[in-house]
Amino acid sequence: MAKVNPFKSAQQQLDKAAKLMGLDASVHARLKLPKREIHFSVPVRMDNGDVRVFEAYRVQYDNSRGPNKGGIRFHPDTDISEVKALAFWMTFKCATVGIPLGGGKGGVTVNPKVLSVRELERLSRGFIRGLRNDIGPDIDIPAPDVYTTPQIMAWMMDEYNTLHSGHKPGVITGKPLAVGGSAGRGYSTAQGGVYVMLELAKKMKLKKGATVVIQGFGNAGSYMAKILTQKGYKIVGLSDSRGGIVNLKGLDPVAVEKHKVKTGSVQNYAGAKNVTNAQILTTPCDILVPAALENVILKENAGKLRCKAVVELANGPTTPEADEKLFKKGIIVVPDILANAGGVTVSYFEQVQNAYNYYWTEKEVLAKLEPIMVESFDAVWAAKEKYKCDMRTGAYIHAAKRIEQAMLAKGIANG
Ligand code: NAD
Repeated sequence: MAKVNPFKSAQQQLDKAAKLMGLDASVHARLKLPKREIHFSVPVRMDNGDVRVFEAYRVQYDNSRGPNKGGIRFHPDTDISEVKALAFWMTFKCATVGIPLGGGKGGVTVNPKVLSVRELERLSRGFIRGLRNDIGPDIDIPAPDVYTTPQIMAWMMDEYNTLHSGHKPGVITGKPLAVGGSAGRGYSTAQGGVYVMLELAKKMKLKKGATVVIQGFGNAGSYMAKILTQKGYKIVGLSDSRGGIVNLKGLDPVAVEKHKVKTGSVQNYAGAKNVTNAQILTTPCDILVPAALENVILKENAGKLRCKAVVELANGPTTPEADEKLFKKGIIVVPDILANAGGVTVSYFEQVQNAYNYYWTEKEVLAKLEPIMVESFDAVWAAKEKYKCDMRTGAYIHAAKRIEQAMLAKGIANG
């Protein structure tokens, strides 16, 4: 199977929306390429005394609507095409939910699972040393992504503040509460996904006890499973990088999490059947939630999906070819740039709190998040109806209009 280039997919998604909405040609041209790509390398002294050098990237895609914003991924398959695509999606995600930020993303090609805690700290600090003058609370603000954690964000913030001799917690979000994190940030991606899914359930007239399969049991996926269970949904399948488990009568995500902590995987959980990573996606359910990596719903397997809707908690899980197949089959896809935007929205709240040095309660955070997600869902749904297209294209149209306004107001050939 040919590897799908996620940046090419991202560009195709834009082209489709641009044509349908009549996007200004110069805005379209500007949005086809990132403003800035930074490639650098990070030397790390390993515990055994050797030095290893890791490839690292930061892409600052577009800052027409505000400073670049986006997470940092530590993964062995991370490369520049992936980081460019992720930075592109961040640009449109912030515009979809209307927060005043642009798009960026970072990554290191590394398997963090084989590093010791001290090696991971040295890598995290080295990443920030490489970008010392390229990031900042009003320039570019990183956050966690796959295999990066609040602890890593704390090391990174500390390194930045040491280099700049100051206290600027707003340089990075997703920090632990003790060092300026926001209440609710830990589960905000999932919580935002749940708010959106509840709106979708109304449109689809889904009944209580509707079934859900979640691919990926990390930050986004595990919280999604727990919150949906509390809301009366039945989680019938879960998976992680090693494989999946299915029980059509329902799984208890809290018990599965305990099992994963103990054994390192969701597999071999008592009372469930082990399945492969391919099988988890085709397990019958009402809603399929990809919450791991990009390019999992492809033209090869899109026809085999047995769900009524896909809610993309992961970034870029569905390729453009698969999108078309799902649309023809009548499977609704709630796109990543809407479904997982709760994370960046609470990251924005974290920055606002850091700037004021005044902190909100969890209740206040959720009370601000919910209307943003619901209104954004409604706007995307309305665009899909108006342009008679799928929800992804509707979301791109809605977001591109906001970016277009900002670019045209500032003057496009200057930035
Ligand atoms: P994470 O590192 O906490 O979890 C990733 C999970 O994916 C792990 O459980 C891992 O085992 C699993 N995984 C990896 N390869 C897999 C495979 N081949 N099949 C099944 N599972 C696999 O990462 P996360 O923060 O939960 O991010 C997951 C997705 O959500 C990513 O696409 C990320 O970009 C997106 N996202 C995250 C946030 C956030 O705030 N953390 C915000 C928006 C979007």
